[in-house]
Amino acid sequence: MKPAPFKYVIARTLDEALAAKAEYGDEARFLAGGQSLVPTMNFRMAMPAVLIDINPLTELSGIKANGVTRIGAMTRYRMLEADAGIGERLRIIHEALPHIAHPQIRNRGTLGGNLSHADPASEMPAIMLALNATLYLRSAKAARQIAARDFFVGALETVIAPDEMLTEIVVPHLPANSGACFMEVARRQGDFAIAGIAAIVTRGADGTCTRARLTYCGVAQTPFYADDAAQSLIGGPVTPAAIKQAAALAMEALDPPGNSHADPSYQRHVAGVLTRRALATAWART
Ligand SMILES: Cc1cc2nc3c(=O)[nH]c(=O)nc-3n(C[C@H](O)[C@H](O)[C@H](O)COP(=O)(O)OP(=O)(O)OC[C@H]3O[C@@H](n4cnc5c(N)ncnc54)[C@H](O)[C@@H]3O)c2cc1C
Repeated sequence: MKPAPFKYVIARTLDEALAAKAEYGDEARFLAGGQSLVPTMNFRMAMPAVLIDINPLTELSGIKANGVTRIGAMTRYRMLEADAGIGERLRIIHEALPHIAHPQIRNRGTLGGNLSHADPASEMPAIMLALNATLYLRSAKAARQIAARDFFVGALETVIAPDEMLTEIVVPHLPANSGACFMEVARRQGDFAIAGIAAIVTRGADGTCTRARLTYCGVAQTPFYADDAAQSLIGGPVTPAAIKQAAALAMEALDPPGNSHADPSYQRHVAGVLTRRALATAWART
């Protein structure tokens, strides 16, 4: 298949990109890595009249750490994989990256493009939710920040306005004695997840759990935050019984949509098994 005809605009600066988006609004899409946009255009599931190529915007690419980790929206998965600092400070990102597609796609795909695309089966939205990341949006007129938790509003839907661009993702570092783990089940290596989980727990000085976050991909219309399950862990040690209870609460809260590879009951079952395994691993890493 070939895409429908479109106008191609190359943005040399952020201001040019934002001015073009202000001019064309919903008719235009930014072209980042193209790894989701181009296939959907080829299948004519997306037919933007205008493509604004933001690949020249090197200022949006890169990783900086100063108390928090700041990741430019045009940072490619490959750059994240190669960054030793991410491996040290935010190891869960490194744990999830190999699950995303294949090396060729990770060479081009960008974190900003992935989050903007908001595929509910995608790994990084769930990870950013678990890490409590803040997303920075810009338009020609204004700038705003939004918590990952408020960013995803539906399948392939975010709060990004027609004239806005996601420019940066800011990730706070985990407190001392935290452990994190990402796991997923997919039919084949590189496929989208049937279910995936990001588990983060923190161990206090007295050996009890002081902070917990459990998020899922593939099991809802948006990345899913299992609030009650996470809260149930706080105040005690993360014992096998506590893990079992948290997994049961998460399974109760989930209402998976099912897909061509897994019906809702199987997705829920997989999510429960992954919850138990990921929590045990995350706690062992605290
Ligand atoms: C075979 C295959 C397998 C895949 N498997 C997986 C997988 O297992 N897990 C997974 O998570 N993903 C998977 N993907 C998708 C891949 O991760 C994409 O790269 C990613 O979802 C989109 O990033 P991109 O930079 O390529 O964005 P693009 O495709 O360029 O853009 C995606 C959308 O986001 C918009 N956009 C891009 N950047 C911005 C921005 N800065 N601000 C606002 N809007 C923006 C675009 O206009 C477009 O609508 C797969 C893709 C393929 C082709």
